[in-house]
Amino acid sequence: MSDVPPFFILFAFVLGSIIGSFLNVCIYRLPRKQSIILPPSHCTTCNIPIRFYDNVPILSYLLLRGRCRSCGAGFSPRYAIIEALTGCVFALTVYEFGLSVETLLYLILLPSLIVITFIDLEHWIIPNVITYPGIALGLILALLRTDWGELRILVGEIGIMNTLYVVEQFPALNSILGIMIGGGVLLLIGLMYEVIRKREGMGMGDVKLLAMVGAFLGVTSLLFIVLLSSLLGTLVGAALMINKQSGMKRAIPFGPFLSFAAALYCFTGGISFIF
Ligand SMILES: [Zn+2]
Repeated sequence: MSDVPPFFILFAFVLGSIIGSFLNVCIYRLPRKQSIILPPSHCTTCNIPIRFYDNVPILSYLLLRGRCRSCGAGFSPRYAIIEALTGCVFALTVYEFGLSVETLLYLILLPSLIVITFIDLEHWIIPNVITYPGIALGLILALLRTDWGELRILVGEIGIMNTLYVVEQFPALNSILGIMIGGGVLLLIGLMYEVIRKREGMGMGDVKLLAMVGAFLGVTSLLFIVLLSSLLGTLVGAALMINKQSGMKRAIPFGPFLSFAAALYCFTGGISFIF
């Protein structure tokens, strides 16, 4: 059981749903190359600004039955779903990890993954404005929580045999290897696919996303994340192919699977989930 007071968990949910409201703005505007700050939220049908009392996460959607107060145009339930999802992610993170470095790390990574997932589902792109800063931020956070003196001593003591152990103990090393291998492995798979099938298999967006995940969670997380996301992607892809009525002409974007596997890694540690 978590020893985090219920009040904190509730607070985390409310904060998360407010952040979720901002994520909605990012999901709508980033792929359209619009500013995420100005103008303030407005109905995309009548352009009338949404009043602050109509902009309460989740509740406003329910009270207004998903419609604009001015013109009555319907809003997608996706807005309320993303607010609720982000609230749950915040609450679960605080419940599991309390006030810790992990919580800080995950509350930066997981909202980014939510934005990436929904943009990729709709537009088939993973914006560089998320992945590039994400890679840098993941690395900086890892550098900050690395005990460099300890690292030097440990490498001297146990040598190269226990490299994985050393890597796991030192976030900076783990993060740098995560970026290189996360980006590199997918790049290699993508290039091989291109050479063999003579067409592009994996978008560069996925490569940068895995590099970002590697920066935050380290190289030791990547095996789990690549295996699980590939498995899920294959299963869902096959299910959609069998169900031809869905009219799916092309495959499905890979970003959501990578994001889901990375989120699952945050909460399960990955390895314990496999075995
Ligand atoms: Zn309207």
